[in-house]
Amino acid sequence: MMTILKKEIQTDLPSSISGILSSDLKNDFTPLISSAKKEYWSALGLPFPEDLSPINAESGSGEFYLSKGGNLFYFKIPGEKNRLECGGLLKNDGIQEFNQFFDVVSRSIQRELKTKELNWKSLTPDETFQNLLSYGTSLNPTKEEFATARELENPDLLHVLMNTQSLLSYSSRNLANLLEDRMKADSVLEKLVQAKLMTKDFVVLCKEKGQQIIKVASRQAIDETSQKGFKCFLCGKPISEENIEELLSATELGRKMIDKGYWMPVRILETLERLGFKNQDVIKEAEEDFFTLYFLSSGEIVMTATFPRKLTLSDAYTLNAKLSVSRAGIGIITSTQPVSAVFKEFLAQSNPQRPLHFLENFSNLEERFEQIIKTRQQEIVQKVVEPFTKFTSITLSDLISQKLFGGEEIKKTQQTAPSSKRGRGKQEVEEEKAES
Ligand SMILES: [Zn+2]
Repeated sequence: MMTILKKEIQTDLPSSISGILSSDLKNDFTPLISSAKKEYWSALGLPFPEDLSPINAESGSGEFYLSKGGNLFYFKIPGEKNRLECGGLLKNDGIQEFNQFFDVVSRSIQRELKTKELNWKSLTPDETFQNLLSYGTSLNPTKEEFATARELENPDLLHVLMNTQSLLSYSSRNLANLLEDRMKADSVLEKLVQAKLMTKDFVVLCKEKGQQIIKVASRQAIDETSQKGFKCFLCGKPISEENIEELLSATELGRKMIDKGYWMPVRILETLERLGFKNQDVIKEAEEDFFTLYFLSSGEIVMTATFPRKLTLSDAYTLNAKLSVSRAGIGIITSTQPVSAVFKEFLAQSNPQRPLHFLENFSNLEERFEQIIKTRQQEIVQKVVEPFTKFTSITLSDLISQKLFGGEEIKKTQQTAPSSKRGRGKQEVEEEKAES
């Protein structure tokens, strides 16, 4: 996963700072914008002017660099000249190279301003995230929990486990009613037992009194008891003549997995790990009956809330508060139930600058998470790169005139050229206006 780091300094900078930085950086980092421009000059056989690297424009200046390790760095000075931003679009191991790049920029400015202290401010939310780290913890699920969380993506399994959990035990006849399908009930039960989320026991009930006489782990054990001539202690009939029922109970693991919907953050954590995030970099907050996860992606905090139930209006207020306190750049709200349009609209209206995503089930979870994170990453990269596009515009007409007529003669030529009266370009019209 890509990391984005941005730092900013606010101080009066000399107008020559862009040229100085590009000269100090060019040995270790490959400039992208001025290299591209240089191609035009060299193709035309013109000497490349030193001060064009990087490009100074009224709107500001800056340059993008490629490092040996394949990371991208930049510095950017907006028009007002008292602010400089330095940043990087980094691959996983790019931090070291970023520090190297940042060191060169920082030392050059210190030298030019003859100062030892520079007050750099981070523009990416490292500090907020550190705060979150201080009151949240990481999840650390066991292998077994990861595996069973995957099983609970199946809504039938989840439904049965959640409903039998509340009763602690349940006969399989009732389970069939719960799922309205006996065949399905058998296969769901088998899966739950296999996943160690539930256990299946057999009980013998007294036909007369309806009470439980014995409880054993297998059907075979009942047959053995019966063969040994055991009789019901309530009514005295042979065991074989009493009712035999299957009894389902949630295991300790099963109860843990559905407590506050614990399986949901576990499942999301597994997804995030597959996408390259580390367990210890994902912060968990447990509420009364749901979880919130926070992690850094593309230089912003992503907040994910997991609800094992229907969302209510009071959840919307809670989520708004959490999004705002955590300064999340984007929110992903997951639920096992459909989310109402009113709820989505309310949350979207309260967060106009913040993209929000709603996942109303966990099918294709990995693909959907990846899609959300990658789309956001592209948006953010675009936002970083966009200001540089105006530095790359090549005034090709000037260059060609320079090639054809030489630097000093351009204006004179344009004024006297007969062709300028007919197909006049926009630039020439503007120049005439400026002169009159
Ligand atoms: Zn009996």
